[in-house]
Amino acid sequence: MHRDDNCVFCTIDKNRVVDEDKLSFLINDKYPVTKGHCLIIPKRHFDNYFDITQPEINSTHRLIDKSKTIDSPKDKSIKGFNIGVNSGVVAGQTIFHTHIHLIPRRANDVVNPIGGVRNIIPDKGKY
Ligand SMILES: [Zn+2]
Repeated sequence: MHRDDNCVFCTIDKNRVVDEDKLSFLINDKYPVTKGHCLIIPKRHFDNYFDITQPEINSTHRLIDKSKTIDSPKDKSIKGFNIGVNSGVVAGQTIFHTHIHLIPRRANDVVNPIGGVRNIIPDKGKY
């Protein structure tokens, strides 16, 4: 499996790994945008989300689902999620090892949540 010795995810401190399987792992985001914000990361080093393989899709989705259905119900304030990938510099990608953000959402965590991920472009959330 391809690894990059200069990559923060390839060289992750094992103590930060909350859950994993053969192909991917889950960590809590170092700078969470909401409480419980986590990252689901394929173990193979590749930068472009669209290079993900079907087994990696299955693995990452299992971890997303597990976090949502097993861990999140412990926090009754979580009422929704945003799931997202920054693919490419122009899309805001800063760590060039593919990762998926799972961001728990709570009532009133922003003034108006309408549009969700559409708000990555300011003022395009409402339509
Ligand atoms: Zn990497």
